[in-house]
Amino acid sequence: MKGLDYTKPLSLYIHVPFCTRKCDYCAFYSVPLASADRSWMEKFVSLVIAEIEALNKDFGKPYRTVFIGGGNPGVIGYGNIRRIIEKTQENGRSEEVTIEINPENVSKEIYSLFPLLTRVSVGIQSMDDDVLLHLGRNARRRDNLRALSILSESPFRWNADIITAVPGESVETTLSDIESVASFSPGHISFYCLTFEEGTPLIEREAPIGEEAEAVFLEKGWARLRELGYEHYEISNFAKPGERCLHNLVYWNLGQYVGFGPGAESSVGYAMVTSMRESETIAEYLSSPALMCTPLSLQETEEEYLLAALRTKDGIDKAEYEKRFGHSFSSVYSDAISRIDKDSYIDSNESFALTEKGFMTLDWIILEMAMGL
Ligand code: SF4
Repeated sequence: MKGLDYTKPLSLYIHVPFCTRKCDYCAFYSVPLASADRSWMEKFVSLVIAEIEALNKDFGKPYRTVFIGGGNPGVIGYGNIRRIIEKTQENGRSEEVTIEINPENVSKEIYSLFPLLTRVSVGIQSMDDDVLLHLGRNARRRDNLRALSILSESPFRWNADIITAVPGESVETTLSDIESVASFSPGHISFYCLTFEEGTPLIEREAPIGEEAEAVFLEKGWARLRELGYEHYEISNFAKPGERCLHNLVYWNLGQYVGFGPGAESSVGYAMVTSMRESETIAEYLSSPALMCTPLSLQETEEEYLLAALRTKDGIDKAEYEKRFGHSFSSVYSDAISRIDKDSYIDSNESFALTEKGFMTLDWIILEMAMGL
């Protein structure tokens, strides 16, 4: 494949673009089942399998991690999920194979995918029926409780997503969501603020609660997650020891991954990555799945790396940075760093990383630092 560095590990992302129905806040590309042509799902699965097969022959080695995301991959059924995963494992076992799934699609049948599948990420979002209704979610508290119970007894490593700062909810509701979910002992929790995206029903009917109020939800939520034994290893992600998501670490370190499915991006190469985007809609994808490549310049690659690595607790590895971009981190950013509050970062000889205080002003810090490029 053009631009691929065959000496480096490679991960796969598969975007399954179907959902039972659209949630009110969602701007990701996905087709609600009611609007999907009946033949699309079967065609999509066959096409993805054919593309993985072609990459298997080209790459010739096991993929480091595989992530099947959405949309809601649960709607294509466990049989199709098995077919896709089996195809990704033809050159050998991956270290981690994750699927995203909505609570209403979790059943004990999912156990049969182990050990082919190793990790499950479930979109709980809230345990409060009013909040779930407000978000336009399909699942209710009873579905979430059932899914959490099934996953807590499963052989998988697993994650639960929680959304906070939903208009009308209190900080107590968020803390209660965290405690209810944590009582089922997931190894990993993703915790993030509701975002208001253009073109969604949510933004048409109301406004965000504002940055100051959001900061209160985040601070209290972060503190509770830490008290419950979760390490805050990325701005929106928390893990028990040994439970970090390997696939997401590939994104944050700008590693190599190839994405299949409409709208899935890829990043291949090392010093300069090639960004690839496929067709934007399922209909386009089914008629012309060929990857479209846009090579990024070294500076664009550096910006991408900065954006991703500053979101993590480990931050930027200075030796790796110099090897990758040919200049030292300090030579480019010392001016920008001098303008940042000292409590917002930890700067050592080996690395530069933001603290939780820095995470709160991440967008501003990234802008300051990008000016140094
Ligand atoms: S299930 Fe996920 S991808 Fe589908 S509409 Fe809801 S938030 Fe969007």
